[in-house]
Amino acid sequence: LHLMIHSLYSNKEIFLRELISNASDAADKLRFDSLKDESLLEGDGDLYVEIEADSPARTLTIRDNGIGMNSAEVVDNLGTIARSGTRKFLDAMSGEQSQDAQMIGQFGVGFYSSFIVADRVTVRSRRAGETQGVQWESTGEGEYTVSAIDKPGRGTEVVLHLRDDESEFLDRTRLHHIIQKYSEHMSLPVRLYKAPAERAKDDEPAFDVVNRGTALWLRSKSDITDEEYHELYRQLAYDPEPPLAWVHNRVEGSQEYASLLYVPAKPPFDLWDRDSRRGLKLYVRRVFIMDDADKLLPTYLRFVRGVIDSNDLPLNVSRELLQSNRVIDKIRGASVKRVLGLIAGLAEKEPEKYAQFYAAFGPVLKEGVVEDPDNRDAILKLLRFHSTQSAGDAPTESLADYLGRMPESQEEIYYLTAENLGTAKASPHLEAFRGRGIEVLLLADRVDEWMINAIPEFEGKPLKSVARGDVELKDVIEDPQAEGEKARVAALYQDVIERLGELLKTHVSAARLSQRLTESPACLVVPENAMSRHLERLLRQAGEQVPGSKPILEINPNHPMLARLRETTDETDFADMGHLLYEQSVLAEGGQLDDPASFVKRLNRLVFRDSPAAA
Ligand code: ADP
Ligand code: MG
Repeated sequence: LHLMIHSLYSNKEIFLRELISNASDAADKLRFDSLKDESLLEGDGDLYVEIEADSPARTLTIRDNGIGMNSAEVVDNLGTIARSGTRKFLDAMSGEQSQDAQMIGQFGVGFYSSFIVADRVTVRSRRAGETQGVQWESTGEGEYTVSAIDKPGRGTEVVLHLRDDESEFLDRTRLHHIIQKYSEHMSLPVRLYKAPAERAKDDEPAFDVVNRGTALWLRSKSDITDEEYHELYRQLAYDPEPPLAWVHNRVEGSQEYASLLYVPAKPPFDLWDRDSRRGLKLYVRRVFIMDDADKLLPTYLRFVRGVIDSNDLPLNVSRELLQSNRVIDKIRGASVKRVLGLIAGLAEKEPEKYAQFYAAFGPVLKEGVVEDPDNRDAILKLLRFHSTQSAGDAPTESLADYLGRMPESQEEIYYLTAENLGTAKASPHLEAFRGRGIEVLLLADRVDEWMINAIPEFEGKPLKSVARGDVELKDVIEDPQAEGEKARVAALYQDVIERLGELLKTHVSAARLSQRLTESPACLVVPENAMSRHLERLLRQAGEQVPGSKPILEINPNHPMLARLRETTDETDFADMGHLLYEQSVLAEGGQLDDPASFVKRLNRLVFRDSPAAA
């Protein structure tokens, strides 16, 4: 704990943010529970949080009339100071104090930030609907005391006994400033008490209400500063960085709701975790209903954070009910359009931000091509790819860019999927395309293979893998001498092709002459409608049984290795070279050999065949 406190010291005011946010959570819980049991309100539904500094006593008190805690809950929630969250938080710390301070809420240890400024903390609480109050006290060293007390008022009071050098938190102007910053977007009013000496007349109110007590999303856009939008985002997302962009709407008419949707600047650490937090915060008529309502957006927009506040849903809405609800369907449909519109706006007007967005979330967005056919066209326009014509490591080419460069006679959009960009760029399958200056999209994200199969065409042009089926590049660029030459070469290699087919029959369905290769001696291709080799590999890696269909071995008659194969009369030599041909094709596409040791032996046998005998 000391370590944590020390590390947050340069940002010590965040303890107020954490304690106010706990009070706000407590108010949310009480509102929610009282929907079922109104008696919990004890006749007083006017919820607020109060902050009171006492200079002579050097205490700062944060008091709410929310749900409260009984003694078991106090021990559970505050008791075990060295909770796992503390450890996780310490592990996740970057050393950049201001960033770390923003993150703390994420680990369920916000309460302990009290000890940044206090050397003793007293919590007094009474749970709504119960009669016995409880007091918890600790100096933050791991020990704590719990005792029963009398507490007429419902809710929780946190009393911070400030350290000697923390007098700034007794200063009303300073407090006002901090509280405003952290609570302006909240729907819970925050009252800041005046010291008796600060009240000119006795009938003057004893406190100021610091914030307006209106949830940010219910206010009008023109009235909200970027900083306020940022602060709400920080508390929703526990993200130290400001969001990249947001879209705020208040919808009226047949449906009434407010929505505020943020796109983060960086991926959260659990973006690829199936059980990660996703979805939006749902309110119904200002009552907080649930966090992470994942039915409000499709999975491929799981990086979006935000709030929906509906006037039409029933207050007793449950996760199950959200599954099939017309109101939700409409909100969801509109929210998807808004987010895609927001992203499209970045793509059009703010290329740098878009590049940042795409680096963080491009692969996730791609899932939408499969998941959301209704918005497929909009999503396709947002995708960016590497291609044989692009420079640099960032994907920058849109499908529209590709179409724009495509010669008129070209009928298809060519692509290649591979394990990584390096393998893709070096792939033998690209040789003839490169040679003729035909652009090929290079796809190396895990999701690409799956995605690309869901795109039959873009603007009327079908997509075609360069590693699949036949390529008839002569259709694209006329090659006059091709036909006669082809027949002559075919005759020359007839025999080699048959022998290779026989030799490699456990690995390949057949051998044939290639139209794709100009430099490499051979490559593997699959028939037009077969599963791609890359996808097969991905599935195997994921532990799936794949009914291994055999590929076709394509050979390049212009390569010296093939000339040698044709001429060799030695059966062992032919077998060594034939296997090597197959094995190097597997390696070139990023695959693994079944029997690498034999490959090495064969290679050495061929390379050192004519070397002098070893001593
Ligand atoms: P988190 O808020 O992320 O759960 P905290 O360390 O801030 O983590 O708080 C721990 C828990 O203590 C809360 O989840 C809540 O159950 C309880 N708690 C803290 N403050 C209050 C409060 N003012 N009223 C009721 N419960 C509270
Ligand atoms: Mg908290």
